[in-house]
Amino acid sequence: MSEVKLDDIVSLAKRRGFIYQGSDVYGGLSGTWDYGPLGVALKRNIMQLWWKMFVEDRDDMYGVDAAILMNQKVWQASGHVDTFTDPLVECSNCHGRFRADKLADSNKCPTCGKEGTFGEAKQFNMMFKTNVGPVDDESSISYLRPETAQGIFTNYKNIVDSFYPDMPFGIAQQGKAFRNEISPRDFVFRSREFEQMEIEYFVREDNWEESFEHWRQQWHAYFAALGLPAESIHELEVPAEDRAHYSKRTMDFEFDYPIGKEELAGLAYRTNFDLSNIERVAKKSMEYIVKGTNDRFVPHVIEPTIGVERAIMAVLSNSYREDEQNGEKRIYLALPEHLAPVKYCVSPLLKNKPELVEKAREVYAALKAKYGAVMWDDNGNIGKRYRRQDEIGTPHCVVIDFQTLEDGTVTVRDRDTTEQRRVGVEELGP
Ligand SMILES: [Zn+2]
Repeated sequence: MSEVKLDDIVSLAKRRGFIYQGSDVYGGLSGTWDYGPLGVALKRNIMQLWWKMFVEDRDDMYGVDAAILMNQKVWQASGHVDTFTDPLVECSNCHGRFRADKLADSNKCPTCGKEGTFGEAKQFNMMFKTNVGPVDDESSISYLRPETAQGIFTNYKNIVDSFYPDMPFGIAQQGKAFRNEISPRDFVFRSREFEQMEIEYFVREDNWEESFEHWRQQWHAYFAALGLPAESIHELEVPAEDRAHYSKRTMDFEFDYPIGKEELAGLAYRTNFDLSNIERVAKKSMEYIVKGTNDRFVPHVIEPTIGVERAIMAVLSNSYREDEQNGEKRIYLALPEHLAPVKYCVSPLLKNKPELVEKAREVYAALKAKYGAVMWDDNGNIGKRYRRQDEIGTPHCVVIDFQTLEDGTVTVRDRDTTEQRRVGVEELGP
């Protein structure tokens, strides 16, 4: 388990504009979270890194962005309508509702403390149901998608017809997914609305083990790129009785979070379950035909999947640090530079000296043109500015002082070591 406390992360995330409770001004909405300016930047950097590694840098991957609302047949065929459920119990004394398999004591209500007040567990479907169009009947039912994967399977045929990729190939998607969790908890770890990054990698049945191994290694490469130490990642071979109904092999990648060792990402061999379901229900062939041959088959799939919020929580808790500087406690985020929401902060030493401000604005504009993610900060004294930037994980703080006006050098202060050095403006860069 990590030594960082979840409360410290939640408090910093709110204080510095990363993540807020959803609908906070109205008392909040349980299981929803809003991202502030720095949270959006961090989230996008994490998502973009994944997209670059697994889509842009490869020649066997195709990106899609499918609609969140889908034909209800998708969820009937996939088994979600019947089986995407959690066991729900209700206390007959206080009417509190709980997930039966997550109770500390299966016979005692955690709210009112009464024993023996739970009846039989009911199966509660976690999909958010809605109606599409003005008619509220069975035919108009739709759901907010509980996973992005189905938007990939429903586009498999489109991709094959448009691009005719060689086997194996993959389709990738990032986007929102929704689950009506009975008890959302642990900050963004288990929320009702979240973001997924999923790949369906289509293979010949005979080759599934090879591709499984390939993606197992790719996962470790991605975790390393997120700056997560290898010793904090644990592979868990999921036993058959705990696997999703469609999977023949599943590996979870767990991370040492402040809340304990919990799932960060998954890797599943989904067989040809989903494409076969489409064939059965939609009555359309999902066969892949090898170019110039009569070799045809319904591909099997390997599915690497990750919840973006879990990656964010891993990155934040891994980079959260406390130390002492000049006898004062300091909090900083040791984020890898490529993930940091702000790469450089630029300040004039004194904000009431027009010549310093003018020069600082010049440096700020130049750096901003080069890196984009550059912040201007002239509030309070330099010490306060450094503390603010440390807490949001800005790797470099640049200060323009009187010597800058004489010799064109600036002070650059390093977030992790707090060391300062003088460099020429033109030398600034990663
Ligand atoms: Zn109760």
